[in-house]
Amino acid sequence: MKILIVDDEMVPRRVLEKQLSNWGHEVLVAKDGAEALHLFHDQQVKMVITDWVMPGLDGPQLCAEIRKAEADSDNPAFIILLTSKNSSEDLAHGMESGANDFITKPFERLELQARMRNGDCILQLQAELLRKKEEADHLARTDALTQLMNRRAMLDVMRLDEDRMRRERRPLGMVMIDIDKFKNVNDTYGHAIGDLVLQETSKCFAQTIRGGDYVGRWGGEEFLIALPGADIIQCAEVAERCRNRIAALRFPLQDGSVLSVTASFGTASAEGVDRAELLELVNQADKALYWAKDSGRNRVKIYVASADTENTSRS
Ligand SMILES: [Mg+2]
Repeated sequence: MKILIVDDEMVPRRVLEKQLSNWGHEVLVAKDGAEALHLFHDQQVKMVITDWVMPGLDGPQLCAEIRKAEADSDNPAFIILLTSKNSSEDLAHGMESGANDFITKPFERLELQARMRNGDCILQLQAELLRKKEEADHLARTDALTQLMNRRAMLDVMRLDEDRMRRERRPLGMVMIDIDKFKNVNDTYGHAIGDLVLQETSKCFAQTIRGGDYVGRWGGEEFLIALPGADIIQCAEVAERCRNRIAALRFPLQDGSVLSVTASFGTASAEGVDRAELLELVNQADKALYWAKDSGRNRVKIYVASADTENTSRS
């Protein structure tokens, strides 16, 4: 474990350093609070053992500074105050400043070891909790079958990009995709093949989009690509490349025949002063997709406002 020890006096500092090194820890040493704070920021320290009385930033102040710095952290450091102070008032003050534990000076080897073990235990629990939280977060934002972002995650990221593109006065492009006659695939060849088609199609998108673009599974066999900075022509180019890739996919079936699929694409881009809001933009891409379906599938259609005369909606 990486441990930061802080003490303004050389002898106790050396004794502690030697002891911790003997136990196999990686030890960082600071002579005062300011130096400690600097090391703490630089070195991703998880445990701090600090003297109380020091010139400048003292132990409790150092604790408070560390806690302030890691206010948003889900895995805060474990801090032990090492001090000759031992009144209840001192203890309360030290804990209030953010310390996790106390050891009185000069330290007893066994006591130090026990308290560090306790600290390590808490750190491991914190790390485990954080890992679980990140895992749950990832699961909540990921489509299990394709490993693409799900609709909720897409919306979150797209909202950020909508703001960014608006600020930078750049377009925000969308491509809405629907695999043609996908229900037939499921009905005729079974869900295992249907799932495989969805997975392989997803890979086509991932292989085709440009750096900075991203794709999500919008619904059953529906996908959405967001293209920050792309005008509608660039969107159509990406869509056309995806369309070709998907049409080239081959799925060998058990009876020896080979299945291929196609997809339809609708593109739209928000540009200029009167640019569409995010959901409006998604709706425009969806309308263009409807036009692609309506004119025979396996093609890319561009959203053109003047062509949007009737209230079309795909169902
Ligand atoms: Mg001191």
